[in-house]
Amino acid sequence: MTKEAKKRLAMTIERDLSSLQRELQALALQLQPIAPDCSLGDLLRSEMMQEQEVLNAAYIEANKRYNRLLYAQGHLDDEAFGHCIECDEPIAFERLLLVPESKYCVRCATENNL
Ligand SMILES: [Zn+2]
Repeated sequence: MTKEAKKRLAMTIERDLSSLQRELQALALQLQPIAPDCSLGDLLRSEMMQEQEVLNAAYIEANKRYNRLLYAQGHLDDEAFGHCIECDEPIAFERLLLVPESKYCVRCATENNL
């Protein structure tokens, strides 16, 4: 990978990290425990709990991606970076730009359902 390509990837990672950070902060604000004895009706209460579950799942997913991106950021200069961990072929740059934390090339990802 050229220096220029790495620089572009580093910028992409930086941008994705900061947008995820904002997303995580926004989600954290919305994630509020619902008191068991609150005076809400049962229906409203169960709706709120479902909504919290959805928000919580979104939070967990965003947090996972955040950590994968951080890892990618820390390993950008590794020789193996940008190579598929399955077949060792270089991962297409277009793929890395979209998903900088990719560990598999498109072929291996497809074959392994990743
Ligand atoms: Zn591969």
